Amino acid sequence: SSRDLVDIKTIVHDVQRILSRQMQRQGISFELDLAPDIPPSYMDRERIKQVLVNLLINAIQAIGEDGEVHVAARVISSSDSSDSRALEIRVRDSGCGISPDSLPLIFDPFFTTKGVEEGTGLGLSVSYGIIEDHGGTITVESEPGQGTVFIITLPVIEEVT
Ligand code: ADP
Ligand code: MG
Repeated sequence: SSRDLVDIKTIVHDVQRILSRQMQRQGISFELDLAPDIPPSYMDRERIKQVLVNLLINAIQAIGEDGEVHVAARVISSSDSSDSRALEIRVRDSGCGISPDSLPLIFDPFFTTKGVEEGTGLGLSVSYGIIEDHGGTITVESEPGQGTVFIITLPVIEEVT
């Protein structure tokens, strides 16, 4: 994989541009909340873009018609108790939510609740692998009937040593 010093802002804007027409068609509003102090960090731009596209397509499908998708990014201190920092990206939707039965399975390859036309069940397992390759984490919280939030963390790597 090829890592570059990447500004997450440009990735999010690319993803928004790719999906804005579809969201408009379905009456979905897109809200963006990017902290101003996020430093550029080494990552594989195209693969991280793929993760966000996967999450947003799921969000759009979970909403159907009329709702909102909210993407927020900020820098937090890492949970590993060192003084390192992490980039946290939250992708929240107002869609159908995920049942407690499905929740433990959604990152498994080929797990899907969709028909063959809409889903292969690979998006989240591929996304999980990409985030894992970056030394990050991806978790989910969901409330059936209310919506879902995926929380990604990626270590902030400002220089390669
Ligand atoms: P696919 O989208 O092809 O079904 P994914 O790996 O992307 O496969 O997602 C697996 C399953 O997780 C979906 O079929 C759906 O049941 C559930 N899921 C994922 N994201 C969401 C979401 N934002 N809202 C509701 N359910 C979701
Ligand atoms: Mg999917």
